[in-house]
Amino acid sequence: MWPSEKRAGAVLSFDFDAEEVWLAEDPDNVHRPGVLSQGRYGAKVGVPLILGLLRDVRLSATFFVPGAVAARYPERVEEILADGHEVALHGYTHRSPAALSAAEEEDELVRSLHVLRELGVDPVGYRSPSWDFSERTLALLAREGVLYSSNMMDDLRPYRHEGSPLIELPVQWMLDDAAHFWIDAKESWTKKISTPSEVLEIWRGELEGVCGLGGLFVLTMHPQFIGRPSRLTMLRELIDVMKARDDLWIATAREVAERADAVLERSEDG
Ligand code: ZN
Repeated sequence: MWPSEKRAGAVLSFDFDAEEVWLAEDPDNVHRPGVLSQGRYGAKVGVPLILGLLRDVRLSATFFVPGAVAARYPERVEEILADGHEVALHGYTHRSPAALSAAEEEDELVRSLHVLRELGVDPVGYRSPSWDFSERTLALLAREGVLYSSNMMDDLRPYRHEGSPLIELPVQWMLDDAAHFWIDAKESWTKKISTPSEVLEIWRGELEGVCGLGGLFVLTMHPQFIGRPSRLTMLRELIDVMKARDDLWIATAREVAERADAVLERSEDG
């Protein structure tokens, strides 16, 4: 599965949600600038800090961007692209496909492809808002020529979805910054916010385990959460650990999916 001399893969991915998470939660939030500012932080401060960090460590990452965010912040998408990162699909609004009608789901995908293409992106990957699919999602993605999905939690390695051309790059809650850092003032006020060192311990331990098993380590991060100064310091420390491993291939989701597609096709043919 991995290039010669590498025994495992890793992807740094960022879901650039901005205000869309809060607008999907309650459309009335459009009238609540304080609520929306939680997401706007990602666009205003988080993404520029993340791009600076990625320049320092000389790594390319994958940014999953809702169409509505790309339309609101085209200059941020252009900056992401100018630095050589991958931009991929993340819905148009941030509503789960499972909560949409067939017509709404198709409309979301077509509109998000359109807005990203207008910005010069050729998106080949899809991460659903909420990591959730409807019964139609896979077929719809295949129809639009999408190469990979990064939504499922049922493996440690890339695989091909049954009966579909799509490659899956599996994710997990423990490798998602939202699970550790997100406080929802309405629902989780009593939840403790994890310290960066707690999260570093979890991510580092999992990295070692996944590498030992020859798997794929997909980190899912959000500019509005990971983009705080102390957390970026932690991420830099983790990246240092990743880069120190000779056996780890750090690549974009697209690069991993293209390789997995070719390798799996050979084994399917054979
Ligand atoms: Zn998202």
